[in-house]
Amino acid sequence: MVSRPAGEIDRVRYFKFKTLGKALFPLGLGFILCFALSYVDLNWLEARLYDFRVQNSLTPTPSSEIVLITWDDRTIRELETEFPAPLSHHAALLNALAPLRPRAVGYPIDLNRAAELGKTSPHAFLTAARTMMREGTPVLLGTTLDVTGEIHPPAPLHQLPHALAITHKDGNVFSGDKVTRRALLRTDGKATFPLRLAQELGRVSEDFHPTGSYWVEEAQSDFFFFRYNLKPDRPSYARVSAIDILKGRFEPESLRGKILLVGTVSREDSSDFSMTPYSKNPVLVPKLAIQANILESILQNNGIQQLPFSMNLLIATITTALVIGWVILSSPFSGLLATFVLGLSFLLVSHFIFSLSGLWIRAAEPLAGMLLSYYVLVPYRLIREYKARWAYQRRNDILIQVEELKRNFLSLVTHDLKTPVARIQGLADLLLRRADHRFTASDKETLKHISSAAEELDRFINSLLELTRIDSGKFELNLASKDVNTLIESSIESFQSLAREKNITIENQLEPLFPIRVDPLLISKVLRNLIDNAIKYSPPGGMLTLTSQEENTTAPGVLICVKDQGIGMSESEKAQLFSRFYRIKNEQTTNTSGTGLGLYLSRYFIEAHGGKLTVQSSPGEGSTFSIWLPEVPTTKTSFASSPRPPTGLLTRLKQNQPQAVSPSIQEQTR
Ligand code: ADP
Repeated sequence: MVSRPAGEIDRVRYFKFKTLGKALFPLGLGFILCFALSYVDLNWLEARLYDFRVQNSLTPTPSSEIVLITWDDRTIRELETEFPAPLSHHAALLNALAPLRPRAVGYPIDLNRAAELGKTSPHAFLTAARTMMREGTPVLLGTTLDVTGEIHPPAPLHQLPHALAITHKDGNVFSGDKVTRRALLRTDGKATFPLRLAQELGRVSEDFHPTGSYWVEEAQSDFFFFRYNLKPDRPSYARVSAIDILKGRFEPESLRGKILLVGTVSREDSSDFSMTPYSKNPVLVPKLAIQANILESILQNNGIQQLPFSMNLLIATITTALVIGWVILSSPFSGLLATFVLGLSFLLVSHFIFSLSGLWIRAAEPLAGMLLSYYVLVPYRLIREYKARWAYQRRNDILIQVEELKRNFLSLVTHDLKTPVARIQGLADLLLRRADHRFTASDKETLKHISSAAEELDRFINSLLELTRIDSGKFELNLASKDVNTLIESSIESFQSLAREKNITIENQLEPLFPIRVDPLLISKVLRNLIDNAIKYSPPGGMLTLTSQEENTTAPGVLICVKDQGIGMSESEKAQLFSRFYRIKNEQTTNTSGTGLGLYLSRYFIEAHGGKLTVQSSPGEGSTFSIWLPEVPTTKTSFASSPRPPTGLLTRLKQNQPQAVSPSIQEQTR
């Protein structure tokens, strides 16, 4: 097993800790926000989202097993009576229905009021109901509530099965908008009208709790989010007017064996109607249809199931945390986009789940959490970014000042260094020339070292001076018409002795050229640098070839190539070759003196002429540096007037400090 060094383990731990922190922060903040939001009443919003889901859900078709028999305005008009019509008419209705053997009869009508009308005897109704029940049709009366409690049917009808048939409207518990979204299933342990009817039908047991039912401690009641099927644009439950039955104007088969719900539906009386998630029209959907819907949802056991509080909180936390993470890590705009996309996706997904499986995931808290976190975090982010930009600006200003100082310092120091260095070299040369018998061979060798070290130092100072000239924008070309072949030849000449020392042959293949306009001094410097490098980075015994020719591909000009058989360089090394102070780090270069400025300056000088300096090289196979110069310089003025931006000279100086002064100088000055 490979063991990791301690530093690396620390780094890995730190990285893991940081990543964990990055993930935990949005989660923690999301949790706190959503937990706080759970104490805020957002039911007004949730109710609207709930209604939207109900309206756009896959809705079951209302069952043809249930038929509504309505005491409506027409019935009352024809009977010339009042709502809900005297009990004798109701007894007549039961007698008319009895031969049809209905599956069950639910009778949620205020029979106390019916008994008062015309002071009719309740016995006819009681007998009719009992006859029906004897013949196997359960009859269930529906009662109402007043401040004193349940209003039982008038004696002796109270002996008939009866149950509370109130239609629940969201008053102070959920949304407060009086819309019927749920039903009361049991109160004080007693089943209410629809559940009791389902029990009377023998379809559900005494302790049946349909899906979507839940216990409310304060009310000591079971409630039930039933599945609506009363979509306005679809056929609802079949309806027959009571008067048509009383007058025999109906199709008996349409009622035979059905579950009949009998109730009043008066356009004049809004208490016969209730608002639903589909419509806020107070006189559109009769309570009788809603009772039928509740009954069917109990029989189908397909109520709407609410997700537990903890799960809702978890979902809200995750969605909010995603927005928080996104806003922190990305730009405010993509944060906004993410909030929008996440919010929309959440709504869509939760909607589909609701529609397909009847599972209700609360959407108000996640949406509020996402929006709130966005609005809290974006200003926070903007402040942070503004601070960072301000700090960056300040750092930049300081850097510009430092760069300026450094330029001035370099220029001063190099100027002041040049004279003493030249004097040292001159004196060393003078002593060497005058050396007589008093000088030993070792003395002479030392003097030679002093001279060559001073020369090298002088070259370095010159390079630095060029650099400060470029940086200060004072760089200009002194153009003259010149045959570059003469510059090549004189450059070769000055390196012949050095080449001989290394047993390197310098060859030239120069085509006759037309004179071109160049700065002869700068081009000579470039040529010398390239020849110097070619000798420095070649092993003894190699060959160095300089060629020149016309090259008019892009524009009229000349091409000069310096080809060596030296150590060459790799692709990655080539990439930075022309950067300031860059030196390839290998055994060969560390033992060779150099500043890493030569190629940078060379390319700068060539480009100042509008030319190009390129290299082709591969490790161990030598290098070819190619200079292309135009017949007439193209970029002279712009180059001369616009200095290159300061490119972190100080940093590079620091990075390359050990190599900036050649090893031979260090050695000789020890
Ligand atoms: P230096 O003073 O170090 O020679 P240069 O800018 O002239 O600075 O060269 C930069 C680096 O490029 C050198 O340190 C060397 O590693 C590499 N280099 C330059 N010319 C050659 C060449 N002809 N062959 C191989 N490497 C070279």
